[in-house]
Amino acid sequence: MSHVLKARWALLLVACGPTPAPTPAPTATPTATPTANADPVAPEPPPPPVRKDGTIYAEAYQMGTRFSINLWVGEQSPAAAGVAIEAALAEIERIEQIMSEWRPSSELSQLNNAAGQASRLLSPELFEVLQRSKMICDATDGAFDPTFYGVGQLWHFEPGAVPPTREAVAAKLSLVDWRAIELDPNTLRGRLARPGMKVGLGAIAKGYGVDRASQVLKEHGFMHHIVEGGGDTYVSGTKAGAPWRVGIQRPDGPGSIAAIPASDRAIVTSGGYQRFIEVDGKRYAHIIDPRTGWPLDESSSAQSITVLADDATDADAYATAVAVMGPEKGLAYVEAHPPLEAVIVTRSGEVLVSRDLAPLLIWPSDAPPVGDAAAKQPAAPAPDPAATPFSPR
Ligand code: AMP
Ligand code: MG
Repeated sequence: MSHVLKARWALLLVACGPTPAPTPAPTATPTATPTANADPVAPEPPPPPVRKDGTIYAEAYQMGTRFSINLWVGEQSPAAAGVAIEAALAEIERIEQIMSEWRPSSELSQLNNAAGQASRLLSPELFEVLQRSKMICDATDGAFDPTFYGVGQLWHFEPGAVPPTREAVAAKLSLVDWRAIELDPNTLRGRLARPGMKVGLGAIAKGYGVDRASQVLKEHGFMHHIVEGGGDTYVSGTKAGAPWRVGIQRPDGPGSIAAIPASDRAIVTSGGYQRFIEVDGKRYAHIIDPRTGWPLDESSSAQSITVLADDATDADAYATAVAVMGPEKGLAYVEAHPPLEAVIVTRSGEVLVSRDLAPLLIWPSDAPPVGDAAAKQPAAPAPDPAATPFSPR
């Protein structure tokens, strides 16, 4: 086991709930007779504690955000569940190493650096995400477009960041075109056709990481779990035979707007952003409109967008596309494209729910309004993590 994974496992144990089973301090191995040359045998790590509701909970910081796994153990071994959770977290790390546009050593960075040059052999994972990205670009008429990064790299959303000039944005706009991502499914080779163009997978790789982690848990025989990373959730199977419940986080504070009972479905929330840039007194959120190269004007964009899809890769990308489309067009798009569903909180606090999802939502009877009015009310109590398996972000 690598050092990194040990650290995660320690984190996992810390994160497993308020009253973890006491872990006896390792004692001398009773049977082994130590000899001068024998390698010390590392003690087996203790199994992760199982909570009263039959779940094991773990979290780790990856892809720049908090990931969590909530796994229903049932009659299975908690120790085996611990091994499965570690493997799932390691898979997310592996995906990040391939797909981060910020890590200079990542495969994606190498592809970006070779824009305009000959095609390269791609890993199956990067090939798949680029291929699915292109399908979603096509399906959303370019509202989602990972080549936004050609111009997106000019924008920084830290406090005090200076916006690029309109001329600088206009000069890079021709680099934004998903059709210039060339992929050959026969050879798994790919290239970015225009020199200088760049792909950023910030709107889809997290969802893909969640899907991969869920797949790894299933391969280890754990079919009932929730994997969540920074608001991207995949819900697999059930909890003791009943659908899991996923809370839709309020964009303006702690607590949930409503809960969605879910099984074998992805639920991704985008928005409630802390990262903005102010230009001429206007605030802009960190999603770029690929048609203009400018970030979304905060005053006319949704406070948060939750999209449901069959997997988290799709839900992640479509949530970003719906953000670019805007609340009304985005909702109409979702309703015309099953199996997508959505819950959109508009700037004024109106909650728009797609037609087929509306009857499934569980509303808290005392939900305070969202928006300016809510800011003046006391914060809702934090959900009990054991009763509510997951509360996004
Ligand atoms: P999300 O939080 O899933 O909505 O993703 C936001 C991230 O997606 C941003 O930080 C960018 O990395 C990336 N992004 C921004 N605009 C776009 C866009 N129009 N298409 C694809 N990715 C985008
Ligand atoms: Mg997204």
